[in-house]
Parts: sequence; C-alpha cells; structure tokens
Amino acid sequence: MAMEAAARWQVEEQKLRCTKEPFVDDAGTDRIKSIQFSTLSGNEVRGSADVQVWNSRFYDATHKPVPGGLLDTRMGATNKFGECTTCYGSYTECPGHFGYIKLALPVFNVGFFTNILNMLKCICKRCSRVLLADGELRQEFLKKTRNPRAEAQHKSIIAKNVRDKCKPCRCPYCGFMNGVAKKGPKTGGLNIVHDCSKTLDGNAEELRSALSHKKEKLSINSVHLLDPQTVLSLFKRITDEDCELLNLGDRPEKLIITEIAVPPVPIRPSVFAGGAKSNEDSITIILKNIVNSNSIIKDFLQKGEELVKCFNWWQELQLQVVEYVNSDAPCLTASQNRDPKSRGLIQRLKGKTGRFRGNLSGKRTEYTGRTVISPDPNLKITEVAIPVLMAQVLTYPERVSCHNIEKLRQCIRNGPSKHPGANFVIKPDGSKLNLKYGDRQITARDLKYGFKVERHLEDGDIVLFNRQPSLHRMSIMSHRARIMPWRTLRFNESVCNPYNADFDGDEMNLHVLQTEEARTEAFMLMGVQNNLCTPKNGEILVASTQDFLTSSFLVTRKDTFYDRSYFSLLCSYLGDAIESIDLPTPALIKPIELWTGKQLFSVLVRPNACIKVFLNLTVEEKIYMKRKERDKKEVTVLEETMCPNDGFVYFRNSELLCGQVGKKTLGNGNNEGMFSVLIRDYNSHAAASCMNRLAKFSARFIGNHGF
Ligand SMILES: [Mg+2]
Ligand SMILES: [Zn+2]
Ligand SMILES: [Zn+2]
Repeated sequence: MAMEAAARWQVEEQKLRCTKEPFVDDAGTDRIKSIQFSTLSGNEVRGSADVQVWNSRFYDATHKPVPGGLLDTRMGATNKFGECTTCYGSYTECPGHFGYIKLALPVFNVGFFTNILNMLKCICKRCSRVLLADGELRQEFLKKTRNPRAEAQHKSIIAKNVRDKCKPCRCPYCGFMNGVAKKGPKTGGLNIVHDCSKTLDGNAEELRSALSHKKEKLSINSVHLLDPQTVLSLFKRITDEDCELLNLGDRPEKLIITEIAVPPVPIRPSVFAGGAKSNEDSITIILKNIVNSNSIIKDFLQKGEELVKCFNWWQELQLQVVEYVNSDAPCLTASQNRDPKSRGLIQRLKGKTGRFRGNLSGKRTEYTGRTVISPDPNLKITEVAIPVLMAQVLTYPERVSCHNIEKLRQCIRNGPSKHPGANFVIKPDGSKLNLKYGDRQITARDLKYGFKVERHLEDGDIVLFNRQPSLHRMSIMSHRARIMPWRTLRFNESVCNPYNADFDGDEMNLHVLQTEEARTEAFMLMGVQNNLCTPKNGEILVASTQDFLTSSFLVTRKDTFYDRSYFSLLCSYLGDAIESIDLPTPALIKPIELWTGKQLFSVLVRPNACIKVFLNLTVEEKIYMKRKERDKKEVTVLEETMCPNDGFVYFRNSELLCGQVGKKTLGNGNNEGMFSVLIRDYNSHAAASCMNRLAKFSARFIGNHGF
C-alpha cells in the first residue's frame, strides 16, 4: 500500500513540477468554441495566491527577504542563488508564485472606470435596480439580450439603448430621487459624484426658498461622493436579471478592487547594487507604496475612527493602484510627487518596447545580418556584397563529399578568424566540434565524408536580402553572396527600385539559407533575375536609374565620335575582360576612322556575334518632337526617325539606328522599354546581362567624363 502511495506521489510530483519551459499541450486537436475573458474577483485573487503580503520592508538585517514582504521567497527565488520556498525549485526551475495584498478599503479599477460610471448612471443609488419600470419596454429589452443568436456588437447597442432610457428620475421600485452620476472634480483623482441638484423636486425648492429668509447661510448639499465602498455595496445588490439588461457577462462587483494580485518575484527582480543597497523594480516600488498606505488606513479603521479621517489616504491608495495598473493614466498627471519613470503593468506590455512587440514577436534569429547599405555598380544585379566580418559569423553547413573535402579541410585549417574558414564541424552522430578550441590540423586531417562543416559564407552562396517595409514580394529577394572588405552591404543600384532603397543611411537584412533545398527554392522563386517585373501590372521594376541613365543619354548624343583607341577603351569598360567584344565597322572611315556613341550602345546590347540577341524596338523618348510641334516650328521633315531632337529611339537587330536613349527606353515603369522587350523576346538572362554591362560601363564612363 505504502509503495503504491509513494509511486502515485512521485507521478503527482512530476505533474506538479514547476518550470520555465514553454507549456506544450498534447491534448490532441480540440476545437475551441468560444473564449470568454473576465476579471478576477477578490476571492479568486486570494485563491490563486500563495502568500499574503503585508510588510513593506524588503530585506531584514541579514539581507534575507522578510516573510510577508514583497520579496517573500514563497513567491519565487530572488536571484540565481535563491530557492523558492513554495515548490523548492531553483531560480531556473521555478517560474514564481503569486501573492496578494488585502486592501483595507476597496478602490476602483482604472481600466473599467467608464464602465463603472456607465453602470451607475443606469441604477438606482439606493436599491441598485435598473431605472426601468417593470413593463413592456423592460421585457422587450430582456428578450433582445437573451436572444442566443444576437451578436456581441448588437448586444452592446441594446445595452446602450437601455442606458439612454435610464434618465435620472424617481426610482420606480423604492421611490428614491436619483440624480446624475458623473466624474468628480479632475484634481482629486478618480472620483464619482452623485449630483442631485437638477432633479430636486418641488419640496426641496420649497425648503430652499424657506431657508433663504433665514439670516444664517444654510446650503443644501445636493452633491454626494460615491466612494468605491458605496459603489461596491450597490453593485453587489444588482440582480442577475439587471446584469443581463446591462449586458454584463460577469458580476459587476469584480470591477472594484478589493484584493491586489502581487506578481511573482522573478518578473520584478531585485538587484543588489553593491553593499547593502538593493535596486528594486518599478512594480515592487509601487506595490510597496500600496502596502504602506494600506497599513495606515488599516490602523485608522482598527482604532474605530470614522472613514472621513482617512479619506486622503484612501484617495492616495486609489491613485497608487491606478499607477500600478497604468502609470500614464490621465488622473495621475494632476498629482505631484510621482516618479515619472515608474512603469505600470500596462506600460510593460504595450508599445514598441513592450512585451508583445519588443520581446515576443520574434526579432532575433541566427544566420541573419543587418547593416547600412551602399551602392556598387561593379556588382551584378543578382549579387550582394557582404562584409568579411559578417561572412565570418554567418555560416552554411556544407556536407563533406569527394568534391569539396579539400576545400573544407582548408576552411577548417583557417578556423573561425580567417576568412574562407569554418566555425564548427558536425559529426554524423550529431556532436558538434568548436573549431575555436583544439587542434584544427588534426580535425582537418580526420575529416570524413558525411561530416558537416559550418563554413564561412563564400562567393556564390545564396542569401535572402530584404528591406523593410516589406510591402510586396520583391521586398525580399535572393542574391548571390560576394564577400568583400569594409562594413556595408552593397548591391547594384538597378535593384534599388523593388526594395525602395536609397543610400541615405538605409539598413537592410540578410538571411542565410541553411539547406540545399531552401537554396534551390529561393534561387528559382525569389531570385532577382526572376523578379525583374512586378506581378502587379507587368511593368519592369529592376531597371537602370541615376548615373546609368545619364551616361547612356550622354553617350548616345548625335555628335559623339570616338577614335579607335578611345572606342576600344570604352568597349572594355562594359565587361570583366572575360567577355569577347567584336569591334563594329567604323561609322566614318576617311579621313580617320571614327565610331559613334550609338555604335557603342549597340555593342553594349550585343557585344559579340555569339550572342544571339536581336533587339528590335521603337520608343518615343520624352524629347521626341510630335507632329503638331513640328508644324508649329515649321519643320518640314515629317519622318519619325528624323526627329530634330533625336528623340525617336530605333533599335534594329540590336543596332541603335537613331535616338538618344533615356528613361523611357532604359528606366522602370514602361512595358515597352528595352529591358522589357529583351525579357519578352528573349529571356530575363538577356535583360539582366545587358543591365550588368550598362552598369559597369556607366560607372567608369561617367567617372572619367562628368556631365
Ligand atoms: Mg532612405
Ligand atoms: Zn516555486
Ligand atoms: Zn431604488
């Protein structure tokens, strides 16, 4: 028997073990039908707590937390060396336990202050009934709110109608004359007053006129304060039927605080700042003030003194509880001597640095990088330059095979701090070897097929590149890595458009893909080459901008002629000395050989005879002179190609016959531009390589030429 009990106890204990691990429910696939939110009643707060907090001292003379204090060890371990005295867990095991403070007098919950006020407007201030006489109207409202198919929004509208019907009047149940419930004077914090001055009936008027004859100044006080205690007792007497009328999902007395839940110590750590002084969390300090005021009020009440005497302390307590919930509440600004830095519960949760946006919606991940971006026209449009420093941290787990074993051995020998290196070796059994320690020569020698080496990022690795705000799918595209010195991420200016990036300090993010499958998928689907056009309307998005347009415009002017040496030099600009270039026949042969700038542009589109790209297109540039204008200026030549401004761009078989190319031909946002036609008639590779050549050429040309 005893054994059995012991075994069961062990199971129970395992079940009860507290932990900071996230909760994983393995209950299968249950469907949630509905969720109801509610506030905790005083009893529930007390029930879920393990300690009553009443002592405002934190530590005793020996630096041990005081029992019954705000750092009581029963609410969890205070620091790494402490132990929880409720579950005997260590700092890492025990998530902490709640405590509670019993308030001597109730206070309003700021979060529900308007709801409390609205409710008070509807009920009789003596008998707590809703100010609707028993009758058809009341029954009709009840019928509507009880309709199980009514939607929540509809029900709240009904509740509002009920509120509108409950005008201040004589209570139909007890005959009490009700006035208006409204907010008290702003200076005094959270107050509700009951103003009967407008609704006083004839008798009071009579009384007042009778009094006015007297010499002594007697005034009838027609404005009463509705303190939380009074409101609580009123709310307790509201019948369940009236609750339905007011569309309350729960008992209204829960909106008034009688017990405060004290959060576990681990969420408000206490730090010793050298010597005997400790640094307390904002919440702990606020709670300490609450405990202080509370004990003063308790003393007053125990002496049997009247409520009026401790009224100021009561108000103070009310404001402290408000601060605990929301330290930015408007009623707090009126009062002095409050720490502006104190953070209430709401401040912990909301906003950019709050728990949800700041801590929970995942931000930091491994294998990512972020820095400032800068332009680099020497890169291909599909590339991104990654600083060496970044490449040494970002790694890719490459599996060892006969093709790469020597390369990876060299990476291992280089180790974590030399660039084409590696940080870890993962063996097939899952064990991970840190290359920062141990003999790397031996590790490299013992490398076998099937091992994985977490090597540094190298040229050609596929990475995802992203700029916020990620508004469309081109905000995140895959590029090929180029490891470069210095500290910025760099890419070709042609790709500014899809990211909507400029270089005035913009930062961008980089994600390194960790499997071959992911790399392939990203390359096929998200590659820059496959996203040159926007899916919105087919317009080209990755296109030439800025310098590229300027230099193209300058080169293709009518009066540009280059001799053999300069033309050859310009041609050499557009490749990496890998591409072979066929020099076209010069446009002028005598007296000297001269080439035009337009011929240079033709070379740019089709550098050699092996490239089977035959571009045919016509574009009317911005400077193109229309028929009407020609008539006005008495230009007699009417052929499009003979535009006086040379604004008609005409490509035939990849030869630029006329026209000065500009934004319409090369820029974004035109379905009939050069790159669009290249994609349409050939493929995105043709367009991309043409863009690369143009970028390279422009950067060098405009660097020497100027404008
Ligand atoms: Mg910017
Ligand atoms: Zn514990
Ligand atoms: Zn009444």
